[in-house]
Order: sequence, then structure tokens, then C-alpha cells
Amino acid sequence: MQGVILKGIAGFYYVDVEGFGLYECKAKGIFRKHHQSPMVGDHVIIEEIDEAFQKGTIAKILERKNQLKRPVVANVDHALVIFAIKDPEPAFLLIDRFLIGMKENNVPCTICFNKKDLASDEEIKRLSEMYKNSGSDVLFTSSYTKEGIADLKEVIRNKTVCVAGPSGVGKSSLINELQMEVCMEVGDLSRKTSRGKHTTRHAQLIPIMEHSYIVDTPGFSSFEPDCSEAGNVQDYYDEFDEYRGLCRFNGCSHLHEPDCEVKKAVELGQISQVRYDNYCSIYKTIDSKRRY
Ligand code: GDP
Ligand code: ZN
Repeated sequence: MQGVILKGIAGFYYVDVEGFGLYECKAKGIFRKHHQSPMVGDHVIIEEIDEAFQKGTIAKILERKNQLKRPVVANVDHALVIFAIKDPEPAFLLIDRFLIGMKENNVPCTICFNKKDLASDEEIKRLSEMYKNSGSDVLFTSSYTKEGIADLKEVIRNKTVCVAGPSGVGKSSLINELQMEVCMEVGDLSRKTSRGKHTTRHAQLIPIMEHSYIVDTPGFSSFEPDCSEAGNVQDYYDEFDEYRGLCRFNGCSHLHEPDCEVKKAVELGQISQVRYDNYCSIYKTIDSKRRY
């Protein structure tokens, strides 16, 4: 049987097997010998040892498409960062940090701005302009009016999706909207894994729609770019691409160099000022960490 590891606690793995439900499994000893260990998100082959109690052993870990370090989870297909258009105002720097962290792992991102019902057309336009050339999609939703919910479902369909966002933006409300489609075994998961209540919270996958999972993580702050080189940060700003190599200096950081085409594009409004300011701020943060 093949399934997906939703959660791991104290040597037990909870594997969702389509059509059969949740299996409580231990990993075969062989993995330890090979310095391998199953992780949340892994696609695994299990051998059933007890049909009635749905217990099994993990016999094989299928090849991982990717592997995030924070949170520790494998095979993430997509990332969704949720903010409100207002109430509370979006923290643009956090959005960029999240986008960079995900791009480093080659995970495509969608930015979801919720509470569309509170926003004017100008505010919506400003936000879509800001991320127009960022390489990430932007979606506007309202869990009140249900606008954009169908689009959000399309983003999530058949995927394992990393969801992040500060509290108060409507994450729970949106997730409830998505969950209405198919009632999955969320209750089952918490019942079977209740022994984990008092242990440290690790990432887990929550079945949200058929063939879709969201990665439930301990906190938004766990998403940090890995970038050890400030000079690499610009690689994650797709809107700089068309100016690459055109600045006066090779290896221009686009911070204070003269004849910088990126800075010119910002002045002309071709690159968003907010995105550029965030770039500078992230660059400086990484640069100062390296030096001290
Ligand atoms: P979470 O903390 O991100 O999970 O956010 P919640 O789902 O708990 O929502 C936070 C607050 O925002 C609650 O008072 C919700 O009623 C409100 N809220 C959620 N979605 C919307 C929306 O689309 N529009 C408006 N105006 N309020 C919303
Ligand atoms: Zn430059």
C-alpha cells in the first residue's frame, strides 16, 4: 500500500492511505542503517501488520521532490502566503522573506490577500502592481463574500501546500471554506495522534480537500530565507531580471552604485518601491550577519 506521512511522533508515523484511512506505522530498521529517516510529507510504501487496528510498517520511502528545513517537510508542491489587504495591514517585508525562503527550495508561491470586501479598487490595483513581475501569483479573496474562493481551490487542488500568514488575516476562515468541499479525516488524525499533544509541535499535513494537504506549522516566524550570501538575494527578485548585466558595475548590488539600472527602474516606477526597499533591507540583514 502507498500513502503519505501526515505526522510523526516519537517513532510513530501516521500514514494516509487513500481509500483505507490512517495507518499507524513504525519505520523498518533498515532506514537507520542507511542514515535515512522518514519525514512528514514522504510518500511511502507500507506493509500492513494489523488490518483491524490499521497498523503497519514503512518499508520504503519514495524519492523526494524537495525537502524543506523549516518546517521539516518533504514534497511541498506549492506555498501560499495569506495576508489581509487591510485590518491588519500587510507586512510586506515578511511576504518577501517568505517568498525568498520558498524560491530557494524551488517551491512556487501564491500570495493571497484576503478581506477583499474591505478594500477599494485602488488598493487592490496597488497590490497586484506591486507583485506583477515578482514571479509569484497574487490572489484576492474574501471569506465573507466568497470572492476568490474558487480560485484558491484551484491553487490548492492535488497539491501539498505550505500555508503561512500572521494571525488575524483570515487564515482559519479561508481554510474552513476550503474544507467544506470534502470532509476528510482531520478528526481521525487528532484522535489517533492525541499522544502528541504535549510534545513539541512539529509540522504536520492536514487533509484539506481530496488529494490536497496543507502543511500546518508551528509559526510564521519559522520561514526564514537561508541565503548565506547577500549577493544572492537579487536572484529572488524576478523583476530585476531584465536589468541584469546592464548596470555600470559587474556584480552591482543595486544599493549605492552609480549608474544602476535597477535603481533607475525603481525611480521610473517600473519596479515597485516597496519591493526594492525590502530587497535592500534583506540584503543588509544578511550582509551584517555575515560580518559580525
Ligand atoms: P486567522 O487568525 O488568520 O486564522 O484569522 P481568522 O479566520 O480567525 O479571522 C480573523 C478575523 O478576521 C475574524 O474576526 C474574521 O471574522 C475576520 N475575517 C476573516 N476573513 C475575513 C474577510 O474576508 N473579510 C473581513 N472583513 N473579515 C474577515
Ligand atoms: Zn545595479
